[in-house]
Amino acid sequence: MKRLTCPVCGRFVYFDSLSCLACGTDLVHEPRAVEMRELAVRESCANRDAIGCNWLAEAPGGLCASCALTEILPDLSVSGNLLRWKRIEDAKRRLVQTLIRLHLPLVSRAGNRLRFHLLADEVQADGSVKQVMTGHDNGLVTLNIAEADDDRREAMRLGMGERYRTLLGHCRHEVGHFYFDVLVEEGGRRPEFDRIFGDPDADYQEALQRHYDEGPPEDWAEGFVSAYATMHPWEDFAETFAHWMHMVDGLETAVAYNLAEGADPFGGDPIEPLVAAWVPLSVAMNAMSRSLGQPDLYPFVIGPRVVEKLGFVHGLLRDRLASAA
Ligand SMILES: [Zn+2]
Ligand SMILES: [Zn+2]
Ligand SMILES: [Zn+2]
Repeated sequence: MKRLTCPVCGRFVYFDSLSCLACGTDLVHEPRAVEMRELAVRESCANRDAIGCNWLAEAPGGLCASCALTEILPDLSVSGNLLRWKRIEDAKRRLVQTLIRLHLPLVSRAGNRLRFHLLADEVQADGSVKQVMTGHDNGLVTLNIAEADDDRREAMRLGMGERYRTLLGHCRHEVGHFYFDVLVEEGGRRPEFDRIFGDPDADYQEALQRHYDEGPPEDWAEGFVSAYATMHPWEDFAETFAHWMHMVDGLETAVAYNLAEGADPFGGDPIEPLVAAWVPLSVAMNAMSRSLGQPDLYPFVIGPRVVEKLGFVHGLLRDRLASAA
């Protein structure tokens, strides 16, 4: 993320700032220009008062580009759901900001629109619980809003033996499935994909069963960015896509705060210098986290085969940047 400043006094403000702490100016974020403006009447997203969305409305009095993608909100009469919705939208704006920067289409050639349903588990009349599965289907991303509760998300992370579980990570992973359809399938990149990731037409249910019965292969870290990525080539791609986004956003932030130099993730750099800048930076971030008694910020190792996979994603997205330029 770029470093943002107050348009009036020039002090530094955050991506989610609603006003400048120094001069009190009300702020609105313009996601296409990636800049903060002084808020004018009817310019803000209609969700500003409800959930603190600080983005510019697409049309006066309407929603912003990110909130507009949410088709189903949680039931706001349920206590806690307003906060869950807010947390999910906070994470989603970071995702959508990157999608806008990359000029990625929000509709596939087949006509599937990227959209979000934020749903809760439901207790049925017979007392059983109908669980919401977080996932993707033809552009529809379903998120279980329980993921917005820190205690429940952490319990799920531990239960699944994962190293990392965040709302932003879910957002980035699930849209990875959508951009598999858009950029790989519809983009005619299957031969290269199949060579690097394997056959995405392999039986998914069988792979899922095997993953939960046997776990990942012992040497998974040599070829995959996460244990979950070993499950199926689709999941490998979605995990790699999410990590590409973690890396470019993290690198851009580091450059903006003078913590790294020379890497321009949204420029024309190939993957190798980006990874070469990211790896020592992530090691330093982890060391810093440990110094403060916190868990590792980026608990992952990027091996050579993962670099190849990240390079494939990077190529797809650089093509987008080049074609939009
Ligand atoms: Zn200011
Ligand atoms: Zn909004
Ligand atoms: Zn997935």
